[in-house]
Amino acid sequence: MATETEIVEEETHGEPEHSIEETIEEPGEESVEEPVEEEPKEETRSALPGDLIGTSEEFIPRDGAYLDGGNIYAAASGIVNINKKERSISVTPVTNMPPHLQVGDIVIGQVTDVKDSVALVEIAGIKGKGEREIVNAEQAAIHVSNVKDAYVKELYYEFAPFDIVKARVLDLRNMRLSTVNKELGVMKAYCGNCRAVLKVDNNKLKCPKCERTETRKLSSDYGTGII
Ligand SMILES: [Zn+2]
Repeated sequence: MATETEIVEEETHGEPEHSIEETIEEPGEESVEEPVEEEPKEETRSALPGDLIGTSEEFIPRDGAYLDGGNIYAAASGIVNINKKERSISVTPVTNMPPHLQVGDIVIGQVTDVKDSVALVEIAGIKGKGEREIVNAEQAAIHVSNVKDAYVKELYYEFAPFDIVKARVLDLRNMRLSTVNKELGVMKAYCGNCRAVLKVDNNKLKCPKCERTETRKLSSDYGTGII
């Protein structure tokens, strides 16, 4: 019964009302619309010397860019300019790009490996010079003699892979780092058992999850987030 009444209602409402008036096209309107022309846009991104920024099939290399074997590379640190109209690519040098390391710089890095006499560190940034701006990670090493003033029995007691460390650059030739200083050393460490972030507990590190204790050459800024 209910379905029958619904059908009847639909039929009565189906009459068109003002549809004819609304669909009338005004003949003059089409010519008013301007043809949509794409403006040549210029994209920007940053590059370091040697970065692949394009190919010769795409662009003509201009200032700050060079062609090598069909690829176009940045010749300078700076902003990549793509001129679509001209199909050219160039690099405008920027002076505040990632600086080069200098002896005495304090760097932040991650321990990648610990051997008998050295801990290997991948440098991620330089303190006070834009920690997050360094693109090319550099490999460095902390020798067992440069860990702390006190005698180091086992380097494995001082560093572990994945540790975040703060260290001073000793020399650039061999990329030696030192953590001999109160505020230098491990800034953040992970539990070797469950990977949780370790907390300082009486000059040792304790895992809040599995209660495991570990030792490190700790920075006085451990766990503070201060770099
Ligand atoms: Zn744990």
